[in-house]
Amino acid sequence: MTPLEREIRQIIATEGPITVSDYMRLCLAHPRYGYYITRDPLGVRGDFVTAPEVSQMFGELIGAWAATVWQQMGAPAAIRLVELGPGRGTLMADLLRAAKAVPAFRAALSVHLVEISPALRARQQQTLALTQSVQWHDAIETVPDGPAIVIANEFVDALPVHQFVKDSDGWHLRVVGLVDDGLGFLVAPTPMPKTFNEESPGAPHGAVLELRDEEPIAYLAQRVVQQGGAALIIDYGHAARGFGDTLQAVRDHQFADPLAEPGEADLTTQVNFGELTVWARRNGASTHGPVTQGEFLRRLGIEQRAARLKQNAMPQQAADIDAALARLTAPDQMGELFKVLAIADPKLGPLPGFDN
Ligand code: SAH
Repeated sequence: MTPLEREIRQIIATEGPITVSDYMRLCLAHPRYGYYITRDPLGVRGDFVTAPEVSQMFGELIGAWAATVWQQMGAPAAIRLVELGPGRGTLMADLLRAAKAVPAFRAALSVHLVEISPALRARQQQTLALTQSVQWHDAIETVPDGPAIVIANEFVDALPVHQFVKDSDGWHLRVVGLVDDGLGFLVAPTPMPKTFNEESPGAPHGAVLELRDEEPIAYLAQRVVQQGGAALIIDYGHAARGFGDTLQAVRDHQFADPLAEPGEADLTTQVNFGELTVWARRNGASTHGPVTQGEFLRRLGIEQRAARLKQNAMPQQAADIDAALARLTAPDQMGELFKVLAIADPKLGPLPGFDN
């Protein structure tokens, strides 16, 4: 039994079953045993590979995107470049290198990394310390005021969700409790209040509904409206609400049981981009997309960038560049499952990579 499982069982024994949201938070971010707190999970030898780890092209194109957005903002003399959950710092390093093409942008930006993991902060420092001074934050709320461009790749999927299960008398909160002496999913006995049940009247019996906390998205929207800027959210997910349990554990590049060995696997759920759009607009921001990652990267010129890189490459390198291009953009790889949404100050107008 992992030390975290022992602790979770203790909590359940004294306080009763915990919500799926609390379970996710403990597994990922427990101050001592949380998955992200204790390790660098990324890369071929880790548990999963993200887009910036696939190819430098990903961060470079986002760098070009950020420089253009900064120009659309009127080229402010100071801009906060904020990354949420920067992993190994690879995206930021590639972004900063590409930003050299726009020296005034490079000179105007200060880098703010929002990261809860000491292990990953150390890794980010290794990646970035030589080229850039950076400031770390536990949460975006402590990034100093001012216009900001915010990047979040595979960050929102790790934010905890509540799950609800539809029964004959309405929606019930799904919880994690003790079943046959192990951790198991249960449903809370009392249904949710009537107003909640009215939200999704057509859901079939047994349907699962996932709801993320609106607060972080509401904060981003308010911030870009009041102080200027835009947030770019890239993640795996769907454009409209569906019913289904998408809680997924990944370990060593394989799916795992989300309740087995808590703290040892990455836990995520699909991002509901429709919901993010509603929250952003409700707080006064404009939204752009969601478009698929393949479409977004093609519009930013990934095919031309790949061709340029291949000009000076050896045959094996050229093959690697083609493979990376396919991995990021092909419909059967990351190209369609991953979506891109921008939440922006309405004054900015259309943004690169989107058709609005
Ligand atoms: N963006 C990176 C890493 C994705 S993994 C990439 O694309 O490679 C998720 C990242 O978010 C990790 O850096 C993790 O430590 C961080 N993270 C997860 N939950 C967080 C939270 N609540 N606050 C801040 N960072 C968080």
